[in-house]
Amino acid sequence: MFKEDTIAAITTGISNAGVGIIRISGDRACEITDRVFQAENKKKKASNMKSYTAAFGKIYDGDDLIDESILLVMKAPHTYTCEDVCELQCHGGIVVLRKILDLVLRNGARAAEPGEFTKRAFLGGRIDMSQAESVMSLINAKNDFAVRTSVDQLQGRLKNTIVNMREKILYNVAFIESALDDPEHYSLDGFPDKLRMIIDDILIQVEGLINTFDNGKILSEGINTVIVGKPNAGKSSLLNMFVGEDRAIVTDMAGTTRDTLSEIVNVRGITLNIIDTAGIRETDDLVEKIGVDKAIKSVDKADLVLYVVDGSVELDENDQRIIEKIRDKNVIVIINKSDLEIKIERDAICRYIDAEVIQLSAMTGDGSEELYDMLNKMFFEGSLSYNDQLYITNARHKNELVCTKNALKKVIESIDMGMEEDFFSIDMMDAYEHLGLIIGETARDDLADKIFKDFCMGK
Ligand code: GDP
Repeated sequence: MFKEDTIAAITTGISNAGVGIIRISGDRACEITDRVFQAENKKKKASNMKSYTAAFGKIYDGDDLIDESILLVMKAPHTYTCEDVCELQCHGGIVVLRKILDLVLRNGARAAEPGEFTKRAFLGGRIDMSQAESVMSLINAKNDFAVRTSVDQLQGRLKNTIVNMREKILYNVAFIESALDDPEHYSLDGFPDKLRMIIDDILIQVEGLINTFDNGKILSEGINTVIVGKPNAGKSSLLNMFVGEDRAIVTDMAGTTRDTLSEIVNVRGITLNIIDTAGIRETDDLVEKIGVDKAIKSVDKADLVLYVVDGSVELDENDQRIIEKIRDKNVIVIINKSDLEIKIERDAICRYIDAEVIQLSAMTGDGSEELYDMLNKMFFEGSLSYNDQLYITNARHKNELVCTKNALKKVIESIDMGMEEDFFSIDMMDAYEHLGLIIGETARDDLADKIFKDFCMGK
């Protein structure tokens, strides 16, 4: 399939590191590697090495030594891409890796497009579409949950569920078609009742999967959170409190401005993507001064607003201005500085805004438990647990499942209305195809195969 097309790329991150890997995949992978890599044991060549063996050697550009390297040879079909794959483990400097990649390209490989190795794994039939997608979600995972659901998916858990549902649908469509073609051998008496039970079962499964999406997405992607409040209320301190929970995982988010800080923090299994407005510069402009102006765009997009008030001083008109801006959002009001004498009553705040209110001290961390419990309650109905459930975290999968659900509902309607059997098959095939799109399969050829194989014995 890829006869002339051997691809190569740096597969490790583009940063200076101890080791960097160049991956070469395709029919000419060994031949190209042999041109640039010389094993210490001169008899060893990528083309004559056994699959899954390694050799130490050097990479040369003509007579120029570029780097020392360990070559790992993996031969088709049992490789990531299902093709011959050679990986050169080199020193991980950006310049040296680029030089080696350039050398490999000059010797006959083409630069791989993004995702092309995984695409080849899919086209080679080693993984389905949902597994291919899980590779990316695993690489981009922000927390344990995302790692676990991605690995689950990579192992084929979603695929197996989908394949199982599709088989049931296909079997029954094939049965209907065979019965219509060959009524002498296949009877449709009582069939609609049986079919209704089967479709009901699948529908429950599909709806169950759809229902995991909102939680699954928020668990894997995180809650987009904005912290607002007047200067000195304790916004930065609150952020530091979160950060202190898990310093190692805090990362800068892409696309941030100098005025707003963004952090990803994991607290008790919940990921918060926090846009902190504490870095907003002080100006004479009152609205900007109270820390909402620049935040307002973020507030619009936020799943959650954490409104911090300094509990040691009374509310004033600036607080009212802030409340005006966040009134319609999902808000937790945090009465901060609970270690000092608190001058603000919860009820005073509830008079202005319909929100959850808690007291804590961002400085000492006292009260943080209550905040985490509240997040759990707000976003997961207090049941943040994801033990063994199969979660949908990919919007494309959810959309296909919704289409599947609609099609299955039509099948049930048709059965209940006593329509002819061939009427059901159209919507059943629609459901089958939408499910197939999740795993990247087409439908009609399979149907033909199934009918010939299972139903038309001896003909
Ligand atoms: P921001 O301007 O809203 O980001 O507020 P900061 O986080 O910079 O805090 C302003 C001041 O309040 C700092 O001096 C903090 O040390 C102090 N502060 C913040 N949180 C607390 C708290 O829980 N208790 C006490 N006593 N002081 C706090």
